[in-house]
Amino acid sequence: MAIAVINPTTGATERTLEPHDADEIERRVAAAHAAAQALRGETYAQRAAWMRAAADVLESEAEDVAVMITREMGKPIAQSRAEAHKCVKNMRFYADRAEEFLADEPLDDPSSVGASAAWARYEPLGAVLAVMPWNYPLWQVIRFAAPALMAGNSGVLKHASNVPESALYLDTLFTRGGFPEGSFTTLLIGASAVDAVIDDPRITAVTLTGSEPAGRSVGARAGGQVKKAVLELGGSDPFIVMPSADLDKAVSTAVTARINNNGQSCIAGKRFIIHSDVYDAFVSGFTDAMAALTVGDPMDESVQVGPLATRSGRDELAELVDDAVEKGATLLTGGSAPEGDGWFYAPTVLADLPEGARLVMEEAFGPVATVYRAESAEHAVEIANQTTFGLSSSAWTEDAQEQEYFQSALDAGAVFINGMTISYPELPFGGIKDSGFGRELAAAGIREFCNLKTVWKA
Ligand code: NDP
Repeated sequence: MAIAVINPTTGATERTLEPHDADEIERRVAAAHAAAQALRGETYAQRAAWMRAAADVLESEAEDVAVMITREMGKPIAQSRAEAHKCVKNMRFYADRAEEFLADEPLDDPSSVGASAAWARYEPLGAVLAVMPWNYPLWQVIRFAAPALMAGNSGVLKHASNVPESALYLDTLFTRGGFPEGSFTTLLIGASAVDAVIDDPRITAVTLTGSEPAGRSVGARAGGQVKKAVLELGGSDPFIVMPSADLDKAVSTAVTARINNNGQSCIAGKRFIIHSDVYDAFVSGFTDAMAALTVGDPMDESVQVGPLATRSGRDELAELVDDAVEKGATLLTGGSAPEGDGWFYAPTVLADLPEGARLVMEEAFGPVATVYRAESAEHAVEIANQTTFGLSSSAWTEDAQEQEYFQSALDAGAVFINGMTISYPELPFGGIKDSGFGRELAAAGIREFCNLKTVWKA
């Protein structure tokens, strides 16, 4: 894929960039390696001061950054603005909390191991490669970078080829806050150049957010090099609604959960599993609300759904819907791409999915919802757990026993009761099964790229 800005609203190529050559890659990896040596010697207070300054820079530029994001990948402008501010919050969160999260962990009774004192200390690993996607072109990166830099690592970014301006913005953001040169650096390279970077001995670990094939490839390569990897891959999250739920709230939240980011979020509710007692009421309200959404130019503040980020993404989504309809699914609304420029796709609801339909098992990365009828909580969990994914989940019920049951029975990295999945700096984030491994955010996220070193003293 060429490294280029192709505006998804118009389909026009607005800017093409030359990939970095071997010399430039070498210069940047060497700078990241040197910066990691420097950063590990700095105090938390110093790193926090730089992080806060970088957060202030981003905050002051949030409007321009929002326009850049929407132009590159098409999300509604208000959501791009919110993404910039969420990044600021995460940077300040780790500036405030990193030292506490990485404090030494002393053994209460060192005599039990024959020591006068014993403890574990967190140390940075060095330069970490981050392979990142276009769907939240700032947030996915900052989610990794803020904790990584606060822990004393440096970061090397290989961003998705369709968001190069976001990649270049991030290239300088941290140094503008005061971090040493090389603390966070962007490589303008295609996917085929990633393996060589993973193999570089100066790269100590790798994190990837993106598709399952990309995750398998990067995870396997890192494994072959015995390097730590964190993988945050796709999801097909269930959104379960039981009879006791507040139905109006469940319907309106379901719509937001499905169409946020033009439907291109790994933690979007994608499969709506509804108890038969409330199935008809939910599906009719949900379908009406999906059909009433305003689709159009994402720079327009009133637009709720913009285009998909890429033509191939739109085409793949259309194939999944066509496959389901051909095999007998009921199309309740949408189901086609409108005429005209850009990679738009109508908000779509499908019911009565036959077993062989690809959408039963595969992720719909766009504004396409599937609805399923469940006869009981156990049946809902059976449907929820049938995919190979396990990222997050949402369950709506006022019944305390059912809430307990869903918390333990759903195969997922998170369960949100009576709410949609949102990532918060304060809560760990990540999946199981084919959704990946490792955690981002909270204390768990900053500890992923640390050496937990045991110290034992006679
Ligand atoms: P990809 O996974 O292909 O892209 C994500 C990042 O990985 C990009 O930087 C990409 O680079 C890179 N990459 C891709 N293949 C490899 C590889 N073999 N080795 C190393 N790096 C690689 O996502 P797509 O844009 O193709 O989206 C396809 C699907 O991925 C979506 O439909 C969705 O299911 C899933 N996805 C999930 C996301 C999430 O948040 N979990 C985010 C985005 C996508 P380049 O751009 O140069 O190809």
